[in-house]
Amino acid sequence: MDIREDILTPRERSKAFSEGKPMDRIICLPMVAISAAYLIGKTIKEFQLDPEVMAQSHIAAYKRFKYDSVGLSTNCSVLAEAMGAKLDYPEDDAANCIEPLVKSREDLSKVKDIDPEKDGNLWVFYKAFKIVNEEIGQEVPISISVSGPVTTAATLRGTEAFARDMYADPELCHELLRKSTDNIKRHIKTIVAHGADIGAIADPIASASVISPKMFKQFAFPYIKELVDYIHSFNSGAALHICGKSEKILELMVETGADTISVDKVDLKVVKEVVAGRAAIVGNVDTTDEMLHGPVEKIQEVCKRYIDLMRDYKGLYILSTGCDISPKAPFEYVQAMMDVARSYGLYEYN
Ligand SMILES: [Zn+2]
Repeated sequence: MDIREDILTPRERSKAFSEGKPMDRIICLPMVAISAAYLIGKTIKEFQLDPEVMAQSHIAAYKRFKYDSVGLSTNCSVLAEAMGAKLDYPEDDAANCIEPLVKSREDLSKVKDIDPEKDGNLWVFYKAFKIVNEEIGQEVPISISVSGPVTTAATLRGTEAFARDMYADPELCHELLRKSTDNIKRHIKTIVAHGADIGAIADPIASASVISPKMFKQFAFPYIKELVDYIHSFNSGAALHICGKSEKILELMVETGADTISVDKVDLKVVKEVVAGRAAIVGNVDTTDEMLHGPVEKIQEVCKRYIDLMRDYKGLYILSTGCDISPKAPFEYVQAMMDVARSYGLYEYN
């Protein structure tokens, strides 16, 4: 494989795209998140709770792979945590909620309106951003990703209870979603105030692997759309990431108005047809089948196939993984993706 060194920095590359000028290669974004801790010999728990560790992990990962954007994200419960949920932080995995905060309607009063700078661990992102930005921000865009409304509400209530409420007590769902969405907006506003880019709204529990498309339309769509509109009010592009099988909600994902659609376990050919140039597409090398089990040759073959498939796409296509890369995945697989971008994904550039 003939690997060419990058000619442009990620910032220059993305600027070239937005100005309709030539780029040196395809934009490539393997979603390296918590696993970056291992590059500097730290635990994932430290990564999630210590801004210095989060920052140095991302700086090390970026310097090694030189991918196109640094996305600060940890676990999907950080917003719920700031709102009052208690999380468990294992040494080597993403934190999760041990006990729902809202066990009954009466508990709704326990859900607070957050001060993002003080409540929970959102401050870790703001502080880490500052460190990362000072070190590599000239070269690469840095964003803080945002947990979605359904994921946040379901974490507060417990996923099973929340799914039951969708039928039995939809009003309670909407009250939790309202509070969650308002708090997510407070977080977004603070992200902007710190000068970071707003990363993707990541709403794994809104996935069609978890709730039906009908429920997505009723409970996820209005709130996600409200967040997309809110992000647009800062003159920023909005990205929406939904994990798992999102084929049946793709059309609704586009209708939220998100500028970028990031997909997980969906046939990319279908995504291309449904999105049809209305948004940028990010995806979707499988984080288990390929990025966890490899081997390198298979990852390269899939990446090449995706590049070929998306060559005539009427919008931006970003070669990426379907979701955050598992902490158990070998880093050589990340390198394998980047190598394809720097060989098979080259554009003519003088
Ligand atoms: Zn995901």
